[in-house]
Amino acid sequence: MVNNTRSSQDTSATSQISIVELPIRGMDCADCARHVQEALQSVDGVDDAQVLLSAERAKVTLRNPDLDLSILRHAVSRAGYSSPFLGDGGDAVHGDAATNRSTEAAAHARKLAGTVLTVFGLVFSVVLLVVVAGEWLGVLDEVSRRIPWWAGLTAVLLGGYPVFFNVVRSALRGKIISHTLMSLGVVAAIVVGEWITAAIVVLFMRIGDFAERFTTERSREAVKGLERLAPATAVRVSGEAPGGETQEEVPVEELTAGETVLVRPGERVPVDGTVTTGDASVDQSSITGESVPVDVTAGDSVYAATILTTGSIRLTVEAVGRETTYGKVVRLAEEAEANRGDVQRVADRFSSLYLPIVVAIAAATYLIGRDPLATAAVLVVACSCSFALATPIAMMASIGASARRGLLVKGGAHIEMLPRATVLLIDKTGTVTTGTMHVSTIYPASGWTAREVVHVAAAAERDSQHPIARAITERALTEDVEVPAASEFVSEHGRGVSAVVENRRVSVHKSSNPSGGETQLDVVVDGVSAGTISVADEVRSDVKVALQAVRDMGLTRIEILTGDNDAVARRIAGGLEVDYRADLLPEDKIGIVREYQAAGETVLMVGDGVNDAPALVQADVGIAMGAIGSDIAIEAAHVCLLREDWDLVPELLYTARRTMRVVYTNIGLTAVYNILGLTLAAFGFLPPILAAAAQSIPDVGILANSSRLLRPARRTPARRTPARVE
Ligand code: ADP
Ligand code: MG
Repeated sequence: MVNNTRSSQDTSATSQISIVELPIRGMDCADCARHVQEALQSVDGVDDAQVLLSAERAKVTLRNPDLDLSILRHAVSRAGYSSPFLGDGGDAVHGDAATNRSTEAAAHARKLAGTVLTVFGLVFSVVLLVVVAGEWLGVLDEVSRRIPWWAGLTAVLLGGYPVFFNVVRSALRGKIISHTLMSLGVVAAIVVGEWITAAIVVLFMRIGDFAERFTTERSREAVKGLERLAPATAVRVSGEAPGGETQEEVPVEELTAGETVLVRPGERVPVDGTVTTGDASVDQSSITGESVPVDVTAGDSVYAATILTTGSIRLTVEAVGRETTYGKVVRLAEEAEANRGDVQRVADRFSSLYLPIVVAIAAATYLIGRDPLATAAVLVVACSCSFALATPIAMMASIGASARRGLLVKGGAHIEMLPRATVLLIDKTGTVTTGTMHVSTIYPASGWTAREVVHVAAAAERDSQHPIARAITERALTEDVEVPAASEFVSEHGRGVSAVVENRRVSVHKSSNPSGGETQLDVVVDGVSAGTISVADEVRSDVKVALQAVRDMGLTRIEILTGDNDAVARRIAGGLEVDYRADLLPEDKIGIVREYQAAGETVLMVGDGVNDAPALVQADVGIAMGAIGSDIAIEAAHVCLLREDWDLVPELLYTARRTMRVVYTNIGLTAVYNILGLTLAAFGFLPPILAAAAQSIPDVGILANSSRLLRPARRTPARRTPARVE
């Protein structure tokens, strides 16, 4: 589903900037992503590059859209990684396919030969390890002395040559990598004639690499696993039934908007579309996290990656692949990795400072203690990768697991920000209240009937998506009032709409003097009042419990912001025991967010994502409620709640706190391990072999600690609060 076609998105002709995506292979530690990123950024004509370790790809912004992509590939391979051609449609350049295949085959053969040699060297080192262990335990005697030096050297070279190769290549380009230190340690051991020690250090070094690769792979899993839920093929229906109709299974990429697709019971919906015939029950849990199936029938929307539990349907294709809601969710979850917060930036900076620090400690150990083995141990015990892994492993696990529960968080930066929130602002219409409103009373002006008022008002509202518009058109439908065509439709967010209906200018606007506790709209025809429509909405049943859970977590300043009138706002805010501000225009909401921020507050805002998109962007964390199917919401918000469920709000806050706790524990454990390890090694208490054996401990610890985040918390805060009574 991930497509690497050139300029697959965001190509804006005007600005001459284009974005390309390249697959990247060979990155197995967090440092690697940084190396590739730096290599790409240094290419002339590249504006910016973001490398995603979990998705194994780079997103490169080009200043020069004609830049030859082989230049980028070269930069990647010079940094020691590769950007393979992926063949049909999956590749950034339509290069010479035959050449690519033969170079790939050669690379494959080289890799196989390398693996055989390495395994041979490592098996030999294992034998040496057994010998050394046997002597320590007193089971064997004087065996190691009889092993010739060249045997140790062979084990070192065979087992470690790919690493040494990398180290030398990086060194030639003036770069120190974490393997550089360990290799120096190996050299130090060899210099003092400890061949066997050197071979065993190499063995552990490779085991450490493996542990690290495993750790990174595991953390990719949560996000990568998402991608697999979208089916690769679909049943396309063409021609007219009966008789002329044909059904054929085709890859989803071949589908275009407007075609018809058949989905049978038990199958996954392959695309986003609208049902044309058939009834079915759809399990949308892959997107929304909600396990109760939804019933769909002709006219309803269905989404890629959801499952038909019963029934079969035909649907008209609307979006395919990465254009689907699911495709966007997957892509945003993948890209979340690039959105780093302060904690991660500090950890990254530290991990690049760390290598020189270790070199300094090793130099001091040698100069003061004159002990080459202690020096070797210092060089070997330090693994800078652990600092670089501490944050992203936890973030990836958390973001991946959340995406499966209907919570799309678009970056570690937001996870860091959430626990710092001091103010929660919430939109009313469509957020605190259900998206469905209904017309309660119509007050026609003299000379008008209620039906006539609905007739013109529904016509003016027909192109609006607002819940008020839907309430009025719904009323026209139930009362069988005819809704004429309208032209020159104008919608003013937070105020109302107007349009030309049957040659008259009709406007439906917020009432200037509302009475009663309901939302009221004045209907004006050619400047003269035709009447007032009163619309009611209902508070969602789960808001109160969710807000209490939020308060229990210490976030007590909660305020409703609404464009509706004071009376409605007061009634709803009163019921929820929160503050409110009413009669706001969309720009006033942005102003209020800014005001709080200027006063030093950290603002969370929950909104419907469409009318409130600008305020959500302005907030420190903007959360869109029920973002499924809404592009604006998915693009604008920092966090998308893919189902309309207020329980997700406390769950989000709780998940963020839990994630940050894991991040800090990871960093803390790594720091303690390194301080302890370096101290013991420098004072000669840690032999190089043990130092090497211990260097994977922090990686494994980080993985174990972070994988807790793959499982949901046993008790989420909203569920902890007693019964959900209204
Ligand atoms: P909220 O801030 O509570 O989400 P909105 O900003 O969506 O509310 O709307 C604020 C007010 O603007 C509504 O109460 C209504 O008076 C008016 N309004 C918005 N959209 C429409 C519409 N399509 N038709 C009539 N009035 C509208
Ligand atoms: Mg709203």
